Amino acid sequence: MDQIECVVIGAGVVGLAIARALAARGREVIVLEAAEAIGTSTSSRNSEVIHAGLYYPRGSLKATLCVRGREMLYEYCASRNVTHARCGKLLVATAANQIPQLEAIRARGKENGVFDLTRISGSEALALEPALECVAAVYSPQTGIVDSHQLMLALQGDAERDGAVIALKSPVESIDAQGSGFTVRTGGGAPIDLRAACVINSAGLYATKLARRIRGLDARHVPPFYLARGNYFSVSGRVPFSRLIYPMPNDAGLGVHLTLDLGGQARFGPDVEWIDAVDYDVDPRRADSFYAQIRTYWPALPDGALQPAYAGIRPKLSGPGEPAADFMIQGAASHGVRGLVNLFGIESPGLTASLAIAQRVCEMASFD
Ligand SMILES: Cc1cc2nc3c(=O)[nH]c(=O)nc-3n(C[C@H](O)[C@H](O)[C@H](O)COP(=O)(O)OP(=O)(O)OC[C@H]3O[C@@H](n4cnc5c(N)ncnc54)[C@H](O)[C@@H]3O)c2cc1C
Repeated sequence: MDQIECVVIGAGVVGLAIARALAARGREVIVLEAAEAIGTSTSSRNSEVIHAGLYYPRGSLKATLCVRGREMLYEYCASRNVTHARCGKLLVATAANQIPQLEAIRARGKENGVFDLTRISGSEALALEPALECVAAVYSPQTGIVDSHQLMLALQGDAERDGAVIALKSPVESIDAQGSGFTVRTGGGAPIDLRAACVINSAGLYATKLARRIRGLDARHVPPFYLARGNYFSVSGRVPFSRLIYPMPNDAGLGVHLTLDLGGQARFGPDVEWIDAVDYDVDPRRADSFYAQIRTYWPALPDGALQPAYAGIRPKLSGPGEPAADFMIQGAASHGVRGLVNLFGIESPGLTASLAIAQRVCEMASFD
């Protein structure tokens, strides 16, 4: 049976960032990816926003890894020529009764170390974005956008340069953690068995399912898991905005916001739709609710402008009506299995935080 120091399961942005970080530290790494290509799941079905770190509770993993990861990501993109833009974002209150929430988010951002948020009036916001309607706003200059595919290719390139191997079409079917080290078995066209000292479960939407199949891991360490689809609608033609526009967040998400891609094309979303199985179809009937939500801050959105675009699915650890859960990154100190790191609930801001998550996983992993 082949021996390897470290197996990373999943070649999304987080698994690739982890493989790169481990390989850069001289570790022998193989990434096992079920799909035919890297980054085909949540990592290519999101808003591609580099978040500043406004929303998350102080001291949470989401807050600390987002703020640290954002700076790491900007530096990384600049050094690897990954296309990105620090375009800024306006968080808008569209009615006076939203102003306390706007202030609370600004205060929370400050607690998280985001010190350059500016509170502006409705007319100052209008001067920045003439098509906008709001009564007050917070301007976040550190928010940006990134080409997530270029980012993942750069991470893959770095990892491979440092000796990592990315094995596609290699779905992990079982992991045996009894005794010392792990036996990892893949299915697919060319099944393999590997012995490894370290296993990083970065399988995104399937991480909890896979963890439940690890022999030697007590199932009580695997959290409940929910799927929340986020649908996007695109707009034909150019929109009259040059910054990202976010309404007030609601119980389950950040609200239907305007993001721009690096070509200047607009998309609106994601909303929150609780689902039972992975399914990326966007129901065109959801457009009605999108028109209503978008027109609270862009009243001139023309009828018929929205078209169903794509959907991503959030791997959530909290269900409908429950408070948002933090990322869960479990090493031996939590579950007692030496060499195993499980990553659960890596929803937004996982893209922004990916390099900081990788750094943390490297600190938690053990290799003997
Ligand atoms: C709608 C939406 C919008 C978002 N917007 C943003 C945003 O603007 N900014 C931001 O910072 N974050 C955002 N996020 C979050 C971000 O996209 C994710 O946190 C990030 O992409 C997660 O990456 P990952 O590598 O953990 O997971 P994934 O990209 O899902 O990768 C997991 C990989 O594991 C593979 N896999 C699964 N099971 C197995 C197996 N058994 N064997 C081998 N391989 C397996 C899958 O094929 C997949 O390639 C958003 C998420 C959603 C859903």
